[in-house]
Parts: sequence; C-alpha cells; structure tokens
Amino acid sequence: MYSFNNKTVFVTGSSRGIGKAIVKAFAEQGANVIINYVASERPANELAEEIRNNGGNAIVVKGDVSVFTDSERMVNEAIDAFGRIDVLVNNSGITKDNLMLRMTEDDFDRVIDVNLKGTWNMCKNVTRHFLKNKAGSIINITSVVGLIGNPGQANYVASKAGIIGLTKSLAKEFGSRHIRVNAVAPGFIETEMTDQLPEEIKQSYLKQIPLNEFGRVEDIANACLFLASEDANYITGQVLNVNGGMI
Ligand code: NAP
Repeated sequence: MYSFNNKTVFVTGSSRGIGKAIVKAFAEQGANVIINYVASERPANELAEEIRNNGGNAIVVKGDVSVFTDSERMVNEAIDAFGRIDVLVNNSGITKDNLMLRMTEDDFDRVIDVNLKGTWNMCKNVTRHFLKNKAGSIINITSVVGLIGNPGQANYVASKAGIIGLTKSLAKEFGSRHIRVNAVAPGFIETEMTDQLPEEIKQSYLKQIPLNEFGRVEDIANACLFLASEDANYITGQVLNVNGGMI
C-alpha cells in the first residue's frame, strides 16, 4: 500500500495495544522500527523478534516518556541504531479514571505527565533531529474524549485536549521546515485499556457509534500510515477522527 523502505519510525508505548499494531503496520511497509516499553519487556522483545523473523529491522528501547532524560536517551539510541528518525508516533498513554471529587492530585499529575508531558518530551528531542534533516512527521495519538469531554476522565481528557493544542502549535512552528505534525483521535478501540471498562459502560459507548461496532487497533495503524505517507504531504496541524462516526 505504502513504501516506507529506508524510513525509520519510532512508536512510543508499542509493547502492546494500538502501539504494537502501529509498529507492525510500518514494519510491514518496509520501515525500520523502534519499539518502546516501560514495563512489558517480554512482549516488546517478542514483537521485535517477530518483525526480524519476517525480514524487518526492529530495536527495543526501554524508557518512561514522562522522564525527559529517558526520552532524550531513547531518541539517541534510535539514531545510533538506524542513523535517523523519519516518523515519530506518540502513542504512550495511561488512564487513572475517577470522578473529580474522588480524583487525587497524584492521579491528575501522573496522567498529565505521561500523556501530555511525555508527548512534549519526545517532540522536543525528535524535532531537534528533524530540523537537521529538514523533514519529518509526527503523529500524536489523542482521543475522541479530548474533543468532547467525558465524566470521570478529567485528567485524561485534559491531557488529550492538551495534545491537540500541542499538535496544532508545533505544526505552525515547524511547517516552514517541512516537518508535519498531526494527531489521530481514536474512538473506542478494543485493547487492554478498554478491556478494564465495565460491560454497561461498553454497551453505552456502543449505542453512540453509528457503525455499531468497536474499532480495531489496525484502524488506528492505517490512519497513522496515511498521515506519515507522501499521500499526506500537504496535511499538517490536523486531527484525524477514527471513531466509527461517534462525533
Ligand atoms: P494500552 O494497551 O494500555 O498500552 C499502553 C502502552 O503505553 C503500552 O505499550 C505501555 O507500555 C505504554 N506506556 C504506558 N506508560 C508509559 C510510559 N510512562 N512511558 C512509555 N510508555 C508507556 O493502551 P492502548 O489502548 O493501546 O492506547 C494507546 C494510545 O491510544 C493511548 O495514548 C490511549 O490514550 C489512546 N487511545 C486509546 C483508545 C482505546 O480505545 N483503546 C481510545 C482513544 C485513545 P508497557 O506495556 O511497558 O506498560
């Protein structure tokens, strides 16, 4: 479908879920891939092995995106391994859901640190490198709730809305250097993150989805392939909604 031969793609939080599907999709299109995890060492290594067994190139980097020095080290490790980075997908994300009255300050801070600050950390370290190359594409994974809000997720929604603001600002800041910055906003996608939700909440989401089914991780990976590809050469500062028609 696309050719990412000789391109290097860094996907944060790619040991499982949506990130894993994104890594696999880019590897299938010929890209060298960097797999990042913070706790899931074995799944990350198994994914790298699977990609290598299929003839691809993959490395694994451990690091917490919320820690600036970790993000800096991981970018350097990727450049040491492949000589360059062409695409960054900021996918790492966590939830710590609770209604405002019960949400602790720690719950708020940690979700903002991983989701929003982590995205900023990675952008900061990669754009330095993109500027030298006079090219690059960043795709930030936000969420449908970052656009419409959600009770019980004030921390997560604020982080995802923040990512949209960051995306639009960086697109304006780096556009003249041919660095494109876009976001993908998934709706309800079946992963470990959504497995945790009670059945009645899942059913209430289903009622809001015109296509009447939950999304697959591949649906998000396909959107990332498009936005990183030459076909999206004139697209920057946008949020691509992949949500079965929810909004
Ligand atoms: P997931 O299955 O829970 O996977 C989360 C990934 O993020 C894992 O690879 C995890 O690594 C990594 N991660 C967590 N904390 C990290 C940190 N501090 N530093 C680096 N990596 C970290 O989540 P998912 O459902 O695939 O979601 C992926 C992204 O899509 C998230 O940004 C999420 O907010 C967004 N999203 C998901 C949905 C959905 O319906 N699933 C909807 C909208 C948006 P370890 O395995 O090592 O812990």
